[in-house]
Amino acid sequence: MSSVKQDFVKFDQVDKSYDGKVLVVKGLDLDIAEGEFLTLLGPSGSGKTTTLMMLAGFETPTNGEIYLDGDPISSIPPHKRGIGMVFQNYALFPHLSVYENLAFPLKVRKISNDIIDEKVNKTLEMVSLGDFGMRMPAQLSGGQQQRVAVARSLVFDPKLVLMDEPLGALDKNLRESMQYELKHIHESLGVTVVYVTHDQSEALTMSNRIAVFNDGHVQQLSGPNELYETPVNSFVAEFIGENNTITGTVKEISGNQAKVETDKGESVIANPIAVKSVGEKTKMSLRPERVMINPAAALENKFDASVAEIIYHGDHTRVRVNILDDDQFILKIPNSSDDIKLNVNDKIQLGWSSYDCRALDY
Ligand code: ADP
Ligand code: MG
Repeated sequence: MSSVKQDFVKFDQVDKSYDGKVLVVKGLDLDIAEGEFLTLLGPSGSGKTTTLMMLAGFETPTNGEIYLDGDPISSIPPHKRGIGMVFQNYALFPHLSVYENLAFPLKVRKISNDIIDEKVNKTLEMVSLGDFGMRMPAQLSGGQQQRVAVARSLVFDPKLVLMDEPLGALDKNLRESMQYELKHIHESLGVTVVYVTHDQSEALTMSNRIAVFNDGHVQQLSGPNELYETPVNSFVAEFIGENNTITGTVKEISGNQAKVETDKGESVIANPIAVKSVGEKTKMSLRPERVMINPAAALENKFDASVAEIIYHGDHTRVRVNILDDDQFILKIPNSSDDIKLNVNDKIQLGWSSYDCRALDY
């Protein structure tokens, strides 16, 4: 077996400006391995679609170069890049049957009718639409149309598939089941996928790695676990999952502990991830599920709190508390833990380890 190419797709110092003034993608370096499911995740306007469009060939980088399988692609027109694409608005040909929609990219490639028949049927089976070949797109539900769009992007065996918010128009349940379906298709085909979404749970569910975009920059590139457990800056900590932020000023750093004084003069012991010197302002990031209620254990951080609000969420209860002069501090209690019963206005003590309290940029 040949080894996996680690830089199957390579962005090398890519900038993009639409108006010659503002860069909407800035100095992008990104290597995507062969067979990887890589997601570009970020808020609206952060440059995700622009990045995908440059890879597809519908936009040209202002500076830098993109390589596909070792070759610079700037001189290759979009239809010669051998890339499959799926967009949010399906973009099926409305006047062609499902079968003809899938046959189209094969006919363009001058494939014989026998092989077209075989590939179209096999691909329709893969997305559970084996019996739908003769239907017209308008006779399908939104979810079915999107499965046809996915099938059409895969039917010519591309090495690379680009998907831009493909599930954005579907309702929540369908979106979640399609996430698993796409993940399984990716796993069974081994095709390289570059996927765009602004939905963090979608990104965490599907991806091998996630590049978090903000303001034209990649803020962090890592696997889903790492991104959630070890955010490297405040933007990522706040964008991915729920997060408690405690602000303060660094008073001491020794080894893997920093003593941080909050604005009210309390001392919090934190993990100095992005702070280096005494006097720096910091935002500390602490995941709600890392906070212990009335902890028995010896912990570096223990503070008095009062319960402000309790919201039942089915599988867990979300508790908003007042602590360290902040009334937006969140706890999450799994609903299997029946030993914790809280009421509004209860006085409790909360504790957390310094390791889980990440001192990041301010
Ligand atoms: P995202 O997909 O992350 O929402 P985009 O890549 O679409 O972000 O947009 C990044 C920035 O570039 C935004 O400020 C957007 O308004 C701008 N932009 C996107 N497409 C064009 C275009 N064709 N012409 C001019 N500006 C554009
Ligand atoms: Mg977009």
